[in-house]
Formats: sequence, C-alpha cells, structure tokens
Amino acid sequence: MNYKEALQHPVFKIISQSAEELALDAYVIGGFVRDFILKRGTAKDIDVVAIGDGIKLAKQVAKNLHNKPKIQVFKTYGTAMLRYDDIEIEFVGARKESYTEDSRNPAVENGSLADDQNRRDFTINALALNLSTTSYGNLLDPFNGIQDLDDKIIRTPLDPDITYSDDPLRMLRAIRFATQLHFTIEKQSLDAISRNSARIKIITNERIITEINKILGTEKPSIGFLLLEQTGLLKYILPEITALKGIDEVEGQRHKDNFYHTLEVVDNIAKNTDNLWLRWAALLHDIGKAPTKKFSKKVGWTFHAHEFEGSKMVYRLFKRLKMPLNDKMKFVQKMVFMSSRPIVLAQDIVTDSAVRRLVFDAGDYVEDLMTLCEADITTKNPKKFNKYHNNFKIVRDKIVEVEARDHVRNFQPPISGEEIIATFNLKPSREIGIIKEAIKEAILEGEIPNEYEAAYQLMLEKGKKLGLTAVES
Ligand code: ATP
Ligand code: MG
Repeated sequence: MNYKEALQHPVFKIISQSAEELALDAYVIGGFVRDFILKRGTAKDIDVVAIGDGIKLAKQVAKNLHNKPKIQVFKTYGTAMLRYDDIEIEFVGARKESYTEDSRNPAVENGSLADDQNRRDFTINALALNLSTTSYGNLLDPFNGIQDLDDKIIRTPLDPDITYSDDPLRMLRAIRFATQLHFTIEKQSLDAISRNSARIKIITNERIITEINKILGTEKPSIGFLLLEQTGLLKYILPEITALKGIDEVEGQRHKDNFYHTLEVVDNIAKNTDNLWLRWAALLHDIGKAPTKKFSKKVGWTFHAHEFEGSKMVYRLFKRLKMPLNDKMKFVQKMVFMSSRPIVLAQDIVTDSAVRRLVFDAGDYVEDLMTLCEADITTKNPKKFNKYHNNFKIVRDKIVEVEARDHVRNFQPPISGEEIIATFNLKPSREIGIIKEAIKEAILEGEIPNEYEAAYQLMLEKGKKLGLTAVES
C-alpha cells in the first residue's frame, strides 16, 4: 500500500531529502498516519523515526528549511522537536526497549524499525510511512493495524500483559483512544487492563490527568469512565467517583445510583460546552454525596450539605492529582458548591428576587452554572423533564432581564461605607454594616431599584431606626 497523498506537505520532502543526505532511513509513524487513514483531518503533530540518530536528522532538516527553525533537543530521551508553520515535528531514533520487573525506565538501545514498532502501544499506532525517496509513501504495517482501523479495534502489538506492565499509562491510552475514536478494546487487551490496573500507581499524576482530560474532552466521555470503572482503574485515580456507585435500600426506599447519574450529566454537558473545567465540574458535582449520605425514617435518603462537602473535596482532589490550584480549581469549587441552586429555583415558581440572588452569588459564572444544572436534569419522567427545562428557560430569560435592569452581577453597592459614615458622622461601627446589608437585601428582594437615590432614602430610614441622625449638609 502507498499513502503518498498523506505526505503532501512540503516538509515531508525536506525530511526525505535530509535523511538521504545523512544516508539513513526515516519514517512517519504513529498518530499522524492513523489519523490520516481515519480521515480525522491532518494532524498537527508529526512523529518521525530515524533508523539512526534522530537528533542529527532534526538538525539536518532544520538546516534545509528556509526559515531555519530552532530545534529543541531532549538528550535524555534522544529526541528533538521543531516547529514549522503550525506543525510540530518530533524526531526520534528507532529504539529497542527492554523493561525489567522493578524499573519504570526501560533500558534503551538503538534498534530497527521493527524494534521501534514493537514498543508502540497499539497496532493502529504502529503504522509507519516510508520517507525514503525510492519507497516514498510505502506503508509498513507489521501488526495488521489497517485491519484494526477498519474493524475499529484497539489491540496491543505484543502480549498485552507485557505492553501494559512495561508502561501502565498505555492502559489509560487504550481507554482514551476507545473513547475518542469510538473503538472497541479487543477482549485480551481489555482483560489485561483489569489484571494490570494496580500498576497505574507507578504513573505520575500529570501523565494520568493528561489522559483523563482527553477523555473528558470527547463527545461522549461516559464511554471512557465506564471502561475505567469496569477495568478497576478508576478507583486508583478518582476514588471519589467510584464511591458514588451503588444504590442503597432501606425500608423499601432507594436513592439513585449517583455514579451513573454523574456520567449522564457529563455526557449531557459535553453536548453544550467544550470548557474542560465545566466538564470537570459536571464530573465532580455530586462527589459530596458519598460522605454525606444518610437515611432517616422520617425523610428517607438525604445528602445534607453535600455541595459544601463536595467543594471542599474538589480542593483535596486537585491537590492530590497535581492539578492547578488556581482560578480553574476555584471555578470548579464554585460550580459544585452552587450546583443545586438553580434546580431548587426551577422546582417552584421562578421569582425575580430568587433570580437576582442567583446572579448575585454566581456572578460571571451564572451562565456556566445554568449549563451545569441543565445537564443535571436526568429524570426519566418526561413531565418533570419538560417542567424543569421550561423553568430553566424562564430562569435564563429572567437572568437577562434582571441583569439589564438591576446590575447585580459583580454587585457594587450604590452607597459606599464612606458615605454612610459621612452622613451620620460615625466612627467605624456595626451600624455601617447593618445599613449596607439592608440596602443590599432590599435591592436583591426587589424592594428598591439598584439606584443611588432609592438607596440614599433607605439609608436615611434605616439610620433613623438605629437612632442615628444625619448631619445637615
Ligand atoms: P494524539 O496525538 O491524538 O494524542 P498519538 O497517537 O499521536 O495521539 P502521541 O502521544 O502523540 O499520541 O504519541 C505518538 C505516538 O507515539 C503514538 O502514536 C504511539 O505510536 C507512540 N506512543 C506514545 N505514547 C506511547 C506509550 N506510552 N507507549 C507506547 N507508544 C507510545
Ligand atoms: Mg500525536
């Protein structure tokens, strides 16, 4: 088979020519070839394997490119990277890897193309296209990867127990590719993941999270999370999520399975947003339910204050997994903390003041919060489903209306503390706070408009009630 048409970009000719100048063979390998055949659009990252010195080839290519790009060398890995136009090309010398039982780092030696293909994770990722001038575009497919692409199958090139045990990250990659590509993990490969799942412990959190983020970024993340759960991997990575599994029954009263519910919410939200952190919020929105679950005869199952508990758990989870502890984490916390607010509101008659309070508390995140809460509607009762969605439409309209009129998002009090002090000639005292709070409450309740004049009058009234006298101005 020949795939010349995959190699149309002018850079391939230059790599080919550079390899010839150095009298070595070079191949495009892995994701680029796979994605071309799958017609996933031309990938922006290209992996080139040289039979010989990959770094030397990178240097030669850089020299032959008209804009002389800088190359980045990673000596320890024997790789080099350069950017050309908007593509990233990584060069590596073909290698043979051998792992020993107790070490994560393989002994590496130079190898043939076949050696290099053997150390690849999946048959569909071991496809290589020849770049030499005489066999330009010829496909090298030792493991029938093309067939597996056709059959939509993820399979390791060697014994899966060896492939996974050598680099346990591959288990996550298998599940990630299955989710991204809607492929099936072949049975032997899947069983081997279950057998080797505990090995994931030796993988750094950063590498794990890269894969989890990719799963979360797909069209239907539940495919990945179900596989993670089914293979036993999930409990090592996100035990907070596996803890949501199961339905308890006491005296005939059952609660829903919050694990499957969560996955439904994540799939729902994936249809409406590409914001990774909002997707994380969907994944974590109910984690506080496991530790707060209680049964009482009077009210049945409750998850009292699970949103508060959940938001605290978000911090610990991010910290453990070495995820950023910045505004992204705070955003997820806030979403989790507020995740029940709109639904409570939508169960009843939607009032202006409830919406004003929602906007006041959620600030700029209010639309994201609405997106989360709409995704959270997983009831199978069509009457309820329609009612909630309709009420959320009303809430969304009211958010716009209330915001246009009252400006309570990022609320700035119309009367400042200084003005209250000056008006009543006060020293710092609790009266100031009481008056400020009264003004804010009156605005949120809709008793007065969010305007200076009205707030000024209310300040005078409240002051009077507190026994204060306004100084004449
Ligand atoms: P994507 O770029 O969409 O994540 P990819 O297959 O290109 O997919 P990369 O991480 O870019 O993945 O890796 C490039 C190639 O390197 C893969 O196609 C595969 O052949 C090989 N590879 C990457 N990671 C591993 C691994 N952990 N074990 C074995 N081979 C790997
Ligand atoms: Mg890639």
